Amino acid sequence: MVDGLEKLESGARDFDLLVDDDFVDPSRLAAVIDRLQGKLCKVVNRARQRGDHLLVGQSACAWVARTCSISPTSAADRLCVGEQLESMPRVDQALRSGEIGYQAASVICHLQKHVSEIDARIDEEMWVGNARKFSLKDLRDIAASTWHAVDPEGFCTAVEENFERRQLFISETDGMYRLDGWLEAEGGAAVKTAIDALAKPLGVADRRSNKQRRADALVEMAHHVMNQGVLPRRNGVRPHISVTTTIDGLKGELGAAASELQSGMPVSSKTVQRLACDGTLSRVLKADSVVTDVGRATRSASPAQWRALKARHQWCAGPGCDRPVNWTSPHHIEFWSHGGASNLTNLLPLCYYHHRLVHEGGWQVVRAGEGVRFIPPDRVIARSRAPGMRWAA
Ligand SMILES: [Zn+2]
Ligand SMILES: [Zn+2]
Repeated sequence: MVDGLEKLESGARDFDLLVDDDFVDPSRLAAVIDRLQGKLCKVVNRARQRGDHLLVGQSACAWVARTCSISPTSAADRLCVGEQLESMPRVDQALRSGEIGYQAASVICHLQKHVSEIDARIDEEMWVGNARKFSLKDLRDIAASTWHAVDPEGFCTAVEENFERRQLFISETDGMYRLDGWLEAEGGAAVKTAIDALAKPLGVADRRSNKQRRADALVEMAHHVMNQGVLPRRNGVRPHISVTTTIDGLKGELGAAASELQSGMPVSSKTVQRLACDGTLSRVLKADSVVTDVGRATRSASPAQWRALKARHQWCAGPGCDRPVNWTSPHHIEFWSHGGASNLTNLLPLCYYHHRLVHEGGWQVVRAGEGVRFIPPDRVIARSRAPGMRWAA
């Protein structure tokens, strides 16, 4: 059999040299790879049956993951497919002939493994037909509902096992926060539904990508619940963002030290000005190191002013924006940090996106008669920066 593998390896070398990347048919190439993937599944399953992993004192899954340089999840998948293909000649043949792809075969194999728990067998011919007829996502959904119909108890147990796998990591890296996580079906749907509701474009000038709007939606949700004051207090204090800044930092003066979040992460003076504008910022360090509670004393709008502002506006004042006024915060047309007064004529309700656009995005708001006009920055800075890269000095 080693000869066979050598032939395959030399064939692969020739293939790489002979086949032009521009002319090879991707579907045929994918079928070849899928067929080999199926072969790998059978090979690792046989190795498990022989107990190769026991020789090195590892679980079969860990051994396959290490030997084949794949993740433990992928290793478990290969072992499951290898095991099931042995008793499913029709699915095996469909995978080998390129009739169905590897991922579809994997869905069928996992379904068979699940229903085996109650000694049931699936109709292979029908499932090969399903794999040909439906998209991979639909096939997964049909397989899940079939499993539920055949073995509701087993399905429920698996759902609870999935629930135990839930996790969310929030880490700081490259001056940004990174989120990674797993949510079970219902919880994930709740988060996705809420984010989708807030991730629609806001006005015609909204040029954010889908993923940027989703990221903003999550931040906006967090700001909203904090602004509403509905989160439980911690140590007697309502949860809020804490920024340490100086008067110079707040004004964005040259030579001022960077303002910092509680975590020590630096934020730009423009961000600090926005936080000061809507009353999020609560503390400023004066030159003599005296901490002043500016948020309470000069909070952007008093409850009465805020009520009057809401009576004037139903939505965010950004161009074409339909975010309800309850989802906005008061912006000072003449910046608060530049001495702008907190009176009604100087206040404008802006949603998170538009408020950020005005402070950090370089847009300008100018009064025009009774109303206001939003002016985009004269010159859009075209260069962009990837996370982790710094501007050249
Ligand atoms: Zn503002
Ligand atoms: Zn808006």
